[in-house]
Amino acid sequence: MKHQSYPIFDASTIPDDLCPIATKPNPMLPGDWRSFRPIVDRAKCVKCAVCWLYCPVQCVVEKAAWFDFNLATCKGCGICAQECPQRAIRMIPEQS
Ligand code: SF4
Ligand code: SF4
Repeated sequence: MKHQSYPIFDASTIPDDLCPIATKPNPMLPGDWRSFRPIVDRAKCVKCAVCWLYCPVQCVVEKAAWFDFNLATCKGCGICAQECPQRAIRMIPEQS
């Protein structure tokens, strides 16, 4: 199954005559400040792609037999865990 994602924001398109405080891109990724992260029970995942559909930052990635998460961009919101019909996703503290 091929999924289409939005292109990454192109910072070169920002006009150079705007306030620099509001327009300077922040180099941090969501994985730098996230407090919870999702883990998937591979035995429960049926590859329905509901998590992929609902993830607001499109960080759900398809594996051969399950769906997983790009933890560099996952912000730990937990929507995927709420929406998974198989209850295959758990949110765990980032320190775990
Ligand atoms: S929503 Fe749950 S069962 Fe469906 S692909 Fe995602 S993890 Fe697997
Ligand atoms: S926790 Fe939020 S950002 Fe991370 S994979 Fe789930 S829906 Fe996407």
